[in-house]
Amino acid sequence: MKVFDYMEKFGHEQIVYFYDKTTGLKGITAIHDTTLGPALGGTRLFNYLNEEDALFDVVRLSRGMTYKCSAAACNCGGGKTVLLGDPQKVKNEAYLRAYGRYIQSLNGRFYTGEDMNINERDVDFMLMETNYVNGRANMSGNPSPLTAYGVYWGMKACAKEKWGNDSLNGKVVAVQGVGAVGYTLCQYLHKEGAKLIVTDINQDKVNRVVKEFNAKAVSSELIYGVECDIFSPNSVGAILNDYTIPLLKCEIVAGSANNVLLDETVHGDMLMKKNILYAPDYVINAGGVINVYQEFFPPYDQEKTLKVIQNIYDRLLAIFAYSKKHNLNTQLAANMFAEERIRLIGHIRSNYIPGNKNL
Ligand code: NAD
Repeated sequence: MKVFDYMEKFGHEQIVYFYDKTTGLKGITAIHDTTLGPALGGTRLFNYLNEEDALFDVVRLSRGMTYKCSAAACNCGGGKTVLLGDPQKVKNEAYLRAYGRYIQSLNGRFYTGEDMNINERDVDFMLMETNYVNGRANMSGNPSPLTAYGVYWGMKACAKEKWGNDSLNGKVVAVQGVGAVGYTLCQYLHKEGAKLIVTDINQDKVNRVVKEFNAKAVSSELIYGVECDIFSPNSVGAILNDYTIPLLKCEIVAGSANNVLLDETVHGDMLMKKNILYAPDYVINAGGVINVYQEFFPPYDQEKTLKVIQNIYDRLLAIFAYSKKHNLNTQLAANMFAEERIRLIGHIRSNYIPGNKNL
C-alpha cells in the first residue's frame, strides 16, 4: 500500500520521512490523530526487511496509540516513530542527538520516549536536543510496575462484572508470561489471596514466582486448558485464536499483552459466545501510558498516578455496559468508546472563542 492509501484508510494526519546523511539516521513518524492533544508514542529502532514493513508498523502502532490514549482519558493523540537500522550498528551520540533535533522540529506535535531498542541512555542523548520526550528515569520511569497495577485493578473490575464482587481472594488465575509486568501482577494477586498457575518460556522466571508466591507451574502449551477463573495473558500478542479459544476453561481473560486477539471481531465474538468476559487489551494495559501522561502535569507524583490508574476499573465497567447495550464484543465496544470520546471532545473544541489569535 502507498503512503496516502494508508492515510486515507486509517485516518492519519501526517506521516513524516526523515533522513540525516551524516549520521545515517533514517525513520518514519506517523501522527495519527491530534484531536485530543499532542501525539504520544514511543520510538522503536528495528532492522526492518524493507521500507514497506516499517511503514506498516508505524501506521498500525500510531493508530493504536490514539485508541489507547482516548480510552485512558488522556488528552493526547496517537503517534509513533520507527527508526530503520541495525540497533547494534547505528546507535551513537550523534545519531540520537540528530533524532532529538528532528523531534524538536515537530514543535510539540509529537512526544516520544523508549520503545524497542531505545533505552534510557539513548533518551538522555535525545534530551540534549529536544524538550518533547517522556518517560525519563528521573520522572515517571519504568512503566511496567504501573502497567501491572492497572491490570490488577482491571481484573478486579472484571470480577465485579462477572461475579458481582471484586475480591480476587481464592480465585485461580492462570498467568501466561511472568516478565516485567506478569511478575508484579503475581505479586498483587498473591497478596490478595489468589491462587496462581504460571507459565513462561524462561524457566528462571517461573522458578521465582513458584518460590515467592507459591505458584503452580505448567508448560507453555498446557496453560490455555487449565481449569481457572481468570486467564491472564502477559507475554506476546495474537495468542487467542481459532486454536486456543476452544481450549479455555476460564470465565475472564484479563492481562497486559497487546493485541491478544488475532482478529478483534472473529475472536472477540468467539469469547463472547463462550460467555468469557474479555478485558480489551489497550484499556486494561494503559497503566504505563497513564503514568507517562502524568509528566505533563509536574511535579510528577507517583501516589497520585496510582490513583489515576485505578480509574481503569470504572472505565472497564463502562465499556462492559456499552458492550451489552450495543450487543458488541468488548474489544469492539472499547473501540467505539474511544472513537466516541474523540468525536465529542473534537466537537466541543470546534466552538469559536473570540480573541484566540490562532483563529
Ligand atoms: P517482558 O518481556 O518483560 O515479559 C514477557 C514474558 O513473556 C517474558 O518473561 C517471556 O519469557 C515470556 N514469554 C514470551 N513468549 C512466551 C510464550 N509463548 N509463553 C509463555 N511465556 C512467554 O514484557 P513485559 O514488559 O512484561 O510485557 C508483557 C506484555 O505486556 C507484552 O505483550 C507487552 O507488549 C505488553 N505491555 C507491556 C507494558 C509495559 O509497561 N511493560 C505496557 C503495555 C503493554
